[in-house]
Amino acid sequence: MTLRADDLVPAGLVAPERLDGVRQVAKRFQVALTDDIVALIDPGDAADPIAAQFVPSAVEFETASEEQADPIGDERRSPVPGIVHRYRDRVLLKPTLVCPVYCRYCFRREQIGARGKVLGRAALERAYSYIRERPEIWEVVVTGGDPFLLAPRRIGELVAAVAAVEHVQVIRFHTRVPIVDPRRVSARLVQALEAEKAVYVVVHANHPRELSDTARAAVARLARAGIPLLSQSVLLRGVNDDAAVLEELFRKLVAMRVKPYYLHHPDLARGTGHFRGDIADGQRLMRELRRRASGLCQPTYVLDIPGGHGKVPVGPCWLKNDAAGWVVEDAGGTAHRYPPRGRGEDTV
Ligand SMILES: *Cc1c(COP(=O)(O)O)cnc(C)c1O
Ligand code: SF4
Repeated sequence: MTLRADDLVPAGLVAPERLDGVRQVAKRFQVALTDDIVALIDPGDAADPIAAQFVPSAVEFETASEEQADPIGDERRSPVPGIVHRYRDRVLLKPTLVCPVYCRYCFRREQIGARGKVLGRAALERAYSYIRERPEIWEVVVTGGDPFLLAPRRIGELVAAVAAVEHVQVIRFHTRVPIVDPRRVSARLVQALEAEKAVYVVVHANHPRELSDTARAAVARLARAGIPLLSQSVLLRGVNDDAAVLEELFRKLVAMRVKPYYLHHPDLARGTGHFRGDIADGQRLMRELRRRASGLCQPTYVLDIPGGHGKVPVGPCWLKNDAAGWVVEDAGGTAHRYPPRGRGEDTV
């Protein structure tokens, strides 16, 4: 079952006096929570890190001047409906704009939801043609919305169509379903992902408590089918901007056979300022994580440059250069010299 704005007071997730504000927010941005997510929330905790991600609040009306409807410039890079082509070798394919839950910090919050719906047959065919006609497209990133909301039969058709394009070598799904609606990861869905080409799945998770037993079982079904698994997380104030929380999240993911891929600095989406910290704090957290945890637990901290200029790493830099050569810092913060490359005068 999906909870909407009006279900939140009876569920004990919103105080009755806040309902008006929540209804106003719901007119502007999508609202949905799954049963699995509701079960993880402690209604007695005003700072609950799960509630903070999904329960709407009137602070979403606070918009800063630097915030934008399309913070990473996707619309300008969309040559045909359902495709975003920013980097030469890969495209986004968005077969649906519907999500099982609506994250309050979502960077696409003004594009997604029932209003945008599902890409029709004709539009999907046009998107496939766009991919077929461009031999430089090596990878197709299937995102949305959440592509795992499509019926397994439709996912299977999509995988078959994309895998049949000779120059496409990799199909990558970005999804929150295994975490927020794990029962949808059925045997039929797993089977639909089978292809001759590499199919990767990137799961979105931000807090260790999201990794419930059912979520872990869903991820295990994908892993058992031989699907390489990665994760992406968003660095969110009051949710996971803490080294111990990030450490626990990434350790748990790695133990579930999921390699942490990206930690995103939040985009400048409207009404999401309460989630954004400073990049300097993110860098400090990444340093701390390097000191605490296995290399497998280290995602790349990235920023999607506003205006559609793409994602780049913005993590701490351990290396400096001076007249005498390199100075490199160890994880504990001590600096060490590393010599410049020899000119080879001493060799034959
Ligand atoms: C994020 C993104 C990708 C994928 O980027 P990777 O760095 O390869 O994960 C591709 N296209 C667009 C438009 C994106 O925003
Ligand atoms: S699942 Fe992804 S696309 Fe959907 S609301 Fe959350 S962040 Fe946005």
